[in-house]
Amino acid sequence: MATETADILIIGGGLIGLSTAYELARRQAGRIVVLEKGSGVGQGSTGSSSACLRLRYSHLDTMRMALYGQNRYRDWADYTGLESARASMEQIGVLWMLGEDAAAVTAERDRIRSIGAPAQVLTRDELTGRFPSLSTCSTSIDFAEGTEHECGQTETFLFEDDGGYCTDPAGAAQDLLDACRRDGVDVRLTSRVSALRTQGGRVIGVDLASGESIDAPQIVNAAGPWCNELNRMAGIEHKWDLIPTRIQVMLRATINPLPGGLPMVADAAGGIYFRPESRGQQILVGSIRPEDEQETIANPDVYKASIDEESKAGLLHGLHHRIPSLEYRGQVTGIAGMYTMTEQDVHPILGPTHLDGFHVSNGYSGHGFKLGPAVGNLLAQILTDSVIEGDVDIAHDFLSIDRDSLAVREKSVLA
Ligand SMILES: Cc1cc2nc3c(=O)[nH]c(=O)nc-3n(C[C@H](O)[C@H](O)[C@H](O)COP(=O)(O)OP(=O)(O)OC[C@H]3O[C@@H](n4cnc5c(N)ncnc54)[C@H](O)[C@@H]3O)c2cc1C
Repeated sequence: MATETADILIIGGGLIGLSTAYELARRQAGRIVVLEKGSGVGQGSTGSSSACLRLRYSHLDTMRMALYGQNRYRDWADYTGLESARASMEQIGVLWMLGEDAAAVTAERDRIRSIGAPAQVLTRDELTGRFPSLSTCSTSIDFAEGTEHECGQTETFLFEDDGGYCTDPAGAAQDLLDACRRDGVDVRLTSRVSALRTQGGRVIGVDLASGESIDAPQIVNAAGPWCNELNRMAGIEHKWDLIPTRIQVMLRATINPLPGGLPMVADAAGGIYFRPESRGQQILVGSIRPEDEQETIANPDVYKASIDEESKAGLLHGLHHRIPSLEYRGQVTGIAGMYTMTEQDVHPILGPTHLDGFHVSNGYSGHGFKLGPAVGNLLAQILTDSVIEGDVDIAHDFLSIDRDSLAVREKSVLA
């Protein structure tokens, strides 16, 4: 079988791989090939993502990346150039209920404003006026039992006006597939990479399980929870623990619409985040507790994809605590997806490695959906050694494989 060639080869057709391919295609960066082992795109972490879009992070550069992503999702049809894009953004705002005092909330508001995005401090009355269904209790609940307690109160809350969520994360991957193919990227499904070929300290190509081979001087590992297998094939050494982790999410049907609707909420007292789903007919609820990001998956091809009863009960307690008027009726379902936790600092590793031509884009933890467009943009800058108008303006080595662990406020999905 003759060996084909590509200028840049991307392994993985999830949001990260496809965003990278699309950002490269926008720069007309030569012959780009994406290899995806599944029968469709977005069947890994991406398809089960909660796709929440918010800006608040410990690091301003992470926030800048999230802002680039938020702007792309808001103008998704324009960005992808698709007349009937499947995905879109619901800009419902993001409410942070972390039990912080006024000084802390004001400081966070100012950090968000400093990157050019709107944010405001809401008083308790303002919050209740705007979202009457939300309790403002700041007392932590008993996650397992949900036992009654006397409510404490905080007076100030942070609100990100422009945040929200993407309506269809799997659809976003499918949109990127369409946009990539339209722009000349060769995206191949059922194409599992089984070996990486190297020579003289540089990567030269891949072999596929089908027996085909493709040569390329630049290769990107965007294999999500399977990234360690690819890094082992490349023989690269690094200090990062990239751990495929099982993550559970609950869906609660809402019988009657909630007055004032819901924003996306991060709720420390309940240990949860939640947002509307299915045009408000459901509420999607996940955990923000670090202990719920610790179920390691030994083999990403085999894991339990349904929600555990215990987890469902805990998330329900949290939700009913925050929305006391929510009826105890309506279907409760859920899923378990997986993402790759970077144990040290819940931030990804991105860019070149010690093997010439081999790049990593791994360990996105719970942030890869919102960061995806910026990640693709940054990698396109690195791979083509060029900067064009509108590019994310942050130093390339911020997430490099050789960096020190970043100091994060919480080693959790909040990071
Ligand atoms: C339950 C859940 C909730 C989340 N919520 C959010 C959120 O609210 N906001 C947010 O920003 N992020 C969130 N995330 C995280 C985000 O979804 C992920 O970080 C992101 O989707 C990672 O994309 P990826 O392309 O790296 O990985 P994936 O989507 O897993 O894609 C990797 C692809 O590589 C392919 N592949 C693997 N090995 C090979 C090989 N050998 N050959 C060819 N192809 C291969 C796989 O088949 C897969 O399709 C959530 C994730 C989960 C699971």
